[in-house]
Amino acid sequence: MEEKKEPVKPTKKIKLNCAKCGKKLEQKEALIHKNIDGKQEIICHDCFKEATGVDYKTFMYRREAAKQTLFATIFCIAVTIYAFVAEGWEYGVAGIFITILIFLFSAKVK
Ligand SMILES: [Zn+2]
Repeated sequence: MEEKKEPVKPTKKIKLNCAKCGKKLEQKEALIHKNIDGKQEIICHDCFKEATGVDYKTFMYRREAAKQTLFATIFCIAVTIYAFVAEGWEYGVAGIFITILIFLFSAKVK
């Protein structure tokens, strides 16, 4: 028996359209955005900006900054606890002070 073998087709690029303006999007350009109803829709950068009031880069920057602040704060708290236990309460207090400073500073940067 002869088996028919079809040549392997290159995987089709998924074509996406913006749910708001209908613009064709490359996969890397497509943004998943939750609308007011909580439904996910695929939109373009322009519509994202329109919907959220910030452009996507700013949004990502803010999100990244918030994440970094969180990590820095957690790290400082951990160091503070360690200092408190290992070195004494004076270091613990200093650690809390530094943690608050870092937190305030990164909140201001945003
Ligand atoms: Zn759009």
